[in-house]
Amino acid sequence: MAHGMHFFMNPGPTNIPDRILRAMDRGAIDFTAGQFKAITDECFEALKRIFKTEQTILAYAATGHGAWEAALVNLFSPGDKVLLVESGFFSLNWGMRGEAFGLEVETLPNDWRRPLDAARLEARLREDREHKIKAVLLVHCETSTGVINPVSALRQAIDAARHPALYLVDTISSLASIDFRTDEWGVDVVVAGSQKGLMLPTGMAFTAISGKALAAAATAKLPRVYWDWKRLMGEGSQAYWNGTAPVHFFYGLQEALRMLEEEGLENVFARHHRLAEATRRAVRAWRSNDGPEIFASEPAAQSDSVTAVLVPEGSDADKVRQTALDKFNVSLGGGLDRLKGRVFRIGHLGDLNEPMLLGSIAAVEMALDLAGVPHGKGGINAAMEYLSDDG
Ligand code: PLP
Repeated sequence: MAHGMHFFMNPGPTNIPDRILRAMDRGAIDFTAGQFKAITDECFEALKRIFKTEQTILAYAATGHGAWEAALVNLFSPGDKVLLVESGFFSLNWGMRGEAFGLEVETLPNDWRRPLDAARLEARLREDREHKIKAVLLVHCETSTGVINPVSALRQAIDAARHPALYLVDTISSLASIDFRTDEWGVDVVVAGSQKGLMLPTGMAFTAISGKALAAAATAKLPRVYWDWKRLMGEGSQAYWNGTAPVHFFYGLQEALRMLEEEGLENVFARHHRLAEATRRAVRAWRSNDGPEIFASEPAAQSDSVTAVLVPEGSDADKVRQTALDKFNVSLGGGLDRLKGRVFRIGHLGDLNEPMLLGSIAAVEMALDLAGVPHGKGGINAAMEYLSDDG
């Protein structure tokens, strides 16, 4: 039997703050009445500030997979070609969904440990003289690897190739944790979910949609009903729900957005960076004695929301994870797909502070010992030193 607090360090879902839980602990109200509209109006206005967009945002009662699917079925017709930037498990999964809907999905292969070089995207788009590629699909923070893709540089690559492709970006593990600028970076569709930086339960998803994407949706032929943007938009912003509106999610979302704005978005990003950097310093200390290393190999592309830790050949990352959970009540993310058993993932996003992170890092260091993974000592000290030095 586990005692004390469960330290929940998965890269999503994340810790739900008491303020949000309390906000959701209320009775239902009529979702067709003015009181609910006032809540949704406040939420959609605040979401625009979080997405950094002036354009349309739509919400769905769904997980992130729903928003992935909404983007595909609203924008494309059977046989349309899209270019998927490979970054890891989540990117490939998004592409697989496109194939299921009859799209021609071309994968731009890329090493999972590095971000895509913008020149490679530009070169591929330049080759596409007939503009058969209708869209570029990218995951900003690849949650399975902890690598950040350079959204703005890749936009510039699309422009440099003078290519009209739409630009679709998944921000499921970056929005409200790491800076993201929908309009400034020229992103046509942003996919997001509730259960990470927004600190909510799993089950709500979002898309921010540019005017160019809305125009493409007007002629796209894939069938859709639940996800249909036109139907959801009514008079121009979300006016309609297919079925009963998820009122309790909006109670939670309203509180989450107020919390983010009270802290200030830039401070939220700085907090995430600080906790991420402390985590990275711990892993770098473990690296000596041929110990584990940060999977994301380029420092500038290491995510501030999740660190995937690659264990040495012959060690079992799942054993570290299981030990941390069984012995210390600390939950970590596991390796996905080809990284199963090779990495464990420390989520450092959402509602988190220094003691929660330090407790978890100490538990991981003990779990490395117990699981027989060679490593350098003092990861916890390196993290403490950084966090106390940095004021
Ligand atoms: N994309 C990324 C980058 C993710 O991290 C996840 C989930 O962790 C998804 C998509 C899928 O989202 P969901 O599990 O909410 O359907």
